[in-house]
Amino acid sequence: MDHLDGNVLAGPTTDLFAFEPTTAQGQCRSCADIAALGQAMVYGQPMGFVARCRNCDNVLLVVVEHAGQKSLNMRGLRWLRVADPVEHNRI
Ligand SMILES: [Zn+2]
Repeated sequence: MDHLDGNVLAGPTTDLFAFEPTTAQGQCRSCADIAALGQAMVYGQPMGFVARCRNCDNVLLVVVEHAGQKSLNMRGLRWLRVADPVEHNRI
């Protein structure tokens, strides 16, 4: 099967990575709770933030800031649902 260069992802993912994080909904990989990220319990660290599930305390995501760069780990989320910005702006 032929494949495309990864640069083709720029179109469909640009909106995805420019979402409003507090209203995006995610499912906890541990307990299956579904909630907006704004409902997570967030703990600050010297180098970033840890967001934990409101229901079971599982680590949903970690943001680390170091040397002028940010890293995002979302292994505690089964999925993240982002509203379509075009549809969202119509409301
Ligand atoms: Zn959970």
